[in-house]
Amino acid sequence: MSNYLSLNAIMVCRLCQQDLELRNSHIIPELLWSSIYNKKHQALPMSIGNNKLKIIQKGIREKLLCQGCETKLSRWENSLKRHLVDLGDLASDFLEIDRMNADLIRVKNIEYRIFKLAILSIFWRMSVSTNHVYSDYQLGPYEEIIRDILFTEAHVPEKHFPVLIYRYELDGMFYPDIMMHFPCRKLDQTYTIQQVIFYGHLFCIIINNKKLPVDIQKEIILSETGEIFISVRSLVELASPVSVFTRLLDDDVKRFYGK
Ligand SMILES: [Zn+2]
Repeated sequence: MSNYLSLNAIMVCRLCQQDLELRNSHIIPELLWSSIYNKKHQALPMSIGNNKLKIIQKGIREKLLCQGCETKLSRWENSLKRHLVDLGDLASDFLEIDRMNADLIRVKNIEYRIFKLAILSIFWRMSVSTNHVYSDYQLGPYEEIIRDILFTEAHVPEKHFPVLIYRYELDGMFYPDIMMHFPCRKLDQTYTIQQVIFYGHLFCIIINNKKLPVDIQKEIILSETGEIFISVRSLVELASPVSVFTRLLDDDVKRFYGK
């Protein structure tokens, strides 16, 4: 009986909660770590293959989603990939990408709704995954809130689960293959921050749907108008995940505008 019940539980799609045959879903979508679409970039140099780095094992799959939900998420992922390839190349026919200086990039025309849903869907999948690799990514009570957002494709205001993006380079080169995860952190002892790197960018979300922490400048979160400032970081920093976190609140934007 218990076997039947546990088997049955496995058959409930985590997103639509319907009892359906489940696909063997990737937690981090394959197209976001596969560089076969973009051969322009070099492989990551071995010298920074520092063993302190928690490089994400690629290709982790789990029976989480039905075919319908898998198809829905893959539409968002395709759009996200299109954005990330162009952000990686710093060239686009739909994004306005402006490198202000060595440390700062201003981006406009991001398709906010889809982009945000795609990012939230990845953090949500890491949270619902039972794989120990993702044990740092528990969303707690926000897991159900985000599931509902993804299921209903609700509009998410920019200050709800705000998204910050950082680009990693080494000696001016960008490496889309880099993928890492980080322990969950607290900001001001109040806000939970989760971060993950894929396609050479660090994505950070603040797990809160009420207000923005006072220390966070509005310019560095993805806005509903599709604008964001992306700070450029050195891959060398990744040897120390603590420094990645403390630099999260650096004032690159303020410095640029002399605020
Ligand atoms: Zn489903």
